[in-house]
Amino acid sequence: MSRRPVIAGNWKMHNLQQEAMDLTNGIMQELRSEDKAALPEVVIAPTFTALYAANKALTDCGCGKVKLAAQNCYFETKGAFTGECSVEMLKDAGCEYIIIGHSERREYFGETDEMVNKKAKAILANGLIPIICCGESLEQREAGVTDYHIASQITKALRELSAEDVTKSIIAYEPIWAIGTGKTCDSIEANRVIAMIRNVVKGLYDANTSDAIRILYGGSVKPSTIKEQMAQSDIDGALVGGASLTADSFAQIVKGAM
Ligand code: PEP
Repeated sequence: MSRRPVIAGNWKMHNLQQEAMDLTNGIMQELRSEDKAALPEVVIAPTFTALYAANKALTDCGCGKVKLAAQNCYFETKGAFTGECSVEMLKDAGCEYIIIGHSERREYFGETDEMVNKKAKAILANGLIPIICCGESLEQREAGVTDYHIASQITKALRELSAEDVTKSIIAYEPIWAIGTGKTCDSIEANRVIAMIRNVVKGLYDANTSDAIRILYGGSVKPSTIKEQMAQSDIDGALVGGASLTADSFAQIVKGAM
């Protein structure tokens, strides 16, 4: 089964509107001579206030090579939820993907597996694609509970989703100790964990679903690491933080995944 690679840039809490526009234009400039059909699915995830600017740059360009994501959403449709954004609002802002369950949201904002599951359902019900993050802490890795923890996160995130919905979804395996630390997880080990996740999906659904779902690696991905990561059997792309903040390094990662 051939799965189309995905390279997604998580800008986190960076970039004012003009900076977001410049970075978006810079990425498209770097990718201008690449054949769209040969590119991976390229996704950028600006913060809420920069979605409009990034979307404007994408639509003005019109090349369709880069898609828009949000970094978070709320699962309710509307109402008295001060400070939150619904999936419909993010779709209206041009988003086609939404990152959920990022370890920073889990750690600093109390996002639970149950919330991740509700968000995944709301995203899929609106025709968008969830990028569902999972990953173990250093303590969990050292205690030997990595696989157990991740299998539990994935099982809870996918609860009551149909096989069709899971096929459309994207999972990002991001060991927390590798995020923003410069310490990339060894590619063979990242591939082993990702194959384990695929096996969990197979157990919950079937082989067609587990063969189809895209599973990314995230954690200090750089231009120098992407080729080896993409050479692994089960790694379908990358969720990139720091290295997605400059057009040159992000474009190099995109090209390294071709
Ligand atoms: C992330 O924030 O999802 C991430 C992987 O960050 P970094 O690439 O900076 O480790």
